[in-house]
Amino acid sequence: MDFPSSVDQVASAVGDDQVVARYRAKIRVVPGSDCLWWVGAISAKGHGRFWLGTDACGRDTAIISHRFGFALAYGPAAMTAAPVLAHSCDNPLCQSPDHLRAVTNAQNKAQWAARHRRVGGVLRDVRGARGRSLAIREAIKSGADLAAIDAAGVRPVDAGQLPMFNLD
Ligand SMILES: [Zn+2]
Repeated sequence: MDFPSSVDQVASAVGDDQVVARYRAKIRVVPGSDCLWWVGAISAKGHGRFWLGTDACGRDTAIISHRFGFALAYGPAAMTAAPVLAHSCDNPLCQSPDHLRAVTNAQNKAQWAARHRRVGGVLRDVRGARGRSLAIREAIKSGADLAAIDAAGVRPVDAGQLPMFNLD
């Protein structure tokens, strides 16, 4: 049997107004931030997870949401050509295509190592990547103080460093 590829599914999804509207409905703007914040499902690694739909063979397909956003902005071929999309804003929930850049796996590993050592950085959050994203998503949905939610994950040894964003 000839199964449709996930690339074909992404290509069809970016051309489907209903799917695109469903994607955009899960994005929020937060005052004081240039990022576009995902409030939908969250993956084990703390990224947005977007359900593309059910394919012709009845299988559900989901995609990392910022990869879908990248495909929307630059086309499915550009997304497929990019093995890894790194966030220049260091915000795993961010959907802004302007904040994404295509990197190689090696570059991503090197950047991850550097970021993991950065005091007060996302990767040092005591809640873990998924726990941090869940806490931030709930804060955005409930209108809670995002800076306080962000600060709650900072290791005691990192306290006193600049927060990820400024909401004053
Ligand atoms: Zn961003």
